[in-house]
Amino acid sequence: MDTTNNKAAPRNGTASRTPRTHSTKPRWNYKGGFDRARLPPPSDYFAQQGLKLTGGGEWKDAICPFHEDTKPSLRVRLDTGGFRCMVCGAHGGDVLAFHQQRYGLSFKQAAQQLGAWIGGAR
Ligand SMILES: [Zn+2]
Repeated sequence: MDTTNNKAAPRNGTASRTPRTHSTKPRWNYKGGFDRARLPPPSDYFAQQGLKLTGGGEWKDAICPFHEDTKPSLRVRLDTGGFRCMVCGAHGGDVLAFHQQRYGLSFKQAAQQLGAWIGGAR
């Protein structure tokens, strides 16, 4: 008889879960009145922009508004708003970048139009 000697001695009190001390500095501090949380959800925004999104994966396909597109060349992500066109190369990381590029706006103008600029809005 071989008694398997499981020495799974429970160590008391050593489950030290040190709370991560991430810096609490706001990442977008340098952009002044920009509040990313106020950006419209990508799905709403792209629908507003008249994009018909197709496809079932993480990346949706759409007709690219940045060039004369005949078949869906633009890929967009609904979680981040990131987009990339396989034909003309237009790309960006969020709906703000999309708005800027589509309408030739500055960062602040685009943020204001999307309702994501607070304070000092004129
Ligand atoms: Zn394109």
